[in-house]
Amino acid sequence: MRTVSSLLNPEWYERYKRISKLNIRSSIYDVTNQCNLRCKGCFFFSSNEHKAASEEKDIEKWAAFIEGEKQRGVNLAILIGGEPTLCLDRVAAFYNRLPTFCATNGLIKVPRDRFPDMMLGISLWGDEEDEKTLRGKDVFSVSSKNYEGDPHVYYLYTLTPNQTGKIARVIRKIRNVGLKVHMQLLSNDEDVAGFNWEPEELEALRFEMDEILDTFPDTVISSKYYHEIITTGKMLGRSFGWQECPSVTQPLDDRRPRPRRLIEFIRWASDLESMHRCCTSKTRDCSTCKDGAAHMSWVMVNKRAHIQTAKDLQNWIEIYEMFAKLYQFLPW
Ligand code: SF4
Ligand code: SF4
Repeated sequence: MRTVSSLLNPEWYERYKRISKLNIRSSIYDVTNQCNLRCKGCFFFSSNEHKAASEEKDIEKWAAFIEGEKQRGVNLAILIGGEPTLCLDRVAAFYNRLPTFCATNGLIKVPRDRFPDMMLGISLWGDEEDEKTLRGKDVFSVSSKNYEGDPHVYYLYTLTPNQTGKIARVIRKIRNVGLKVHMQLLSNDEDVAGFNWEPEELEALRFEMDEILDTFPDTVISSKYYHEIITTGKMLGRSFGWQECPSVTQPLDDRRPRPRRLIEFIRWASDLESMHRCCTSKTRDCSTCKDGAAHMSWVMVNKRAHIQTAKDLQNWIEIYEMFAKLYQFLPW
């Protein structure tokens, strides 16, 4: 019988043991329905999730809710929105109680005296031209000044078809301001002309992402298996989509048979009562969903399927390590 220890040499086995202790239980929270940008393709606004619930304004209710989440076993709060930094009291309510990750567009500088080690993922939607097209301004020029050299920050770089062949220049800019970067792919929820993926573009992108990782190993947080999964939507011959997605809100998950999934995962709306279907939006077509975290989680919850060959299991370990680094369960 194939076992983890029979497939791994001592070095890989140590890496395996390090992550198997982590037991990450995440949930996602809409901190606010407001944002200081309106990006074309933002799943939150394009699916009207900002109107799904009215924001809870009472900070005591947020505190009590977060205590309840702790009791539910959550050990990683992923804050999104809208723009969470517009409501720093709510962010603090999480940060003071739970390991917290905050997604932000980086336009507002989070005060480090109040949030000394909170991990921030700054959204970046391509080079200057792409950001102007999709977000109305060159957001990087502001966010990079706010966070230059910050050890608890990385860019979440959304690759678009327009970026093919130009990624290295953006990565170099990120390296030059002393920050890390993780790449994901645009799902083009608002069907912006020229931003849909063609199969041959995805194929070329995979190899460009591999090259980028080889060239900038200290800047890019990634793995080649992740590149394969996200560009092909395939894992061990299976196709990503609704029937396989691990990031569906547990109480709303009526799939049968139920796939392997994130335990107790919920995406909460900002009224602290309503739930959204999944980590993105219910209007997104699952067959074209490119959500990076959902793809990573898909691999992570399918450990058993990767106990086949040493390479499969090493691929699984690398993706788990990558996820753990992005959410500060492991150092860079
Ligand atoms: S900054 Fe983020 S939340 Fe705001 S519109 Fe853009 S993608 Fe949406
Ligand atoms: S849209 Fe994406 S994240 Fe949401 S259920 Fe579908 S596949 Fe999963």
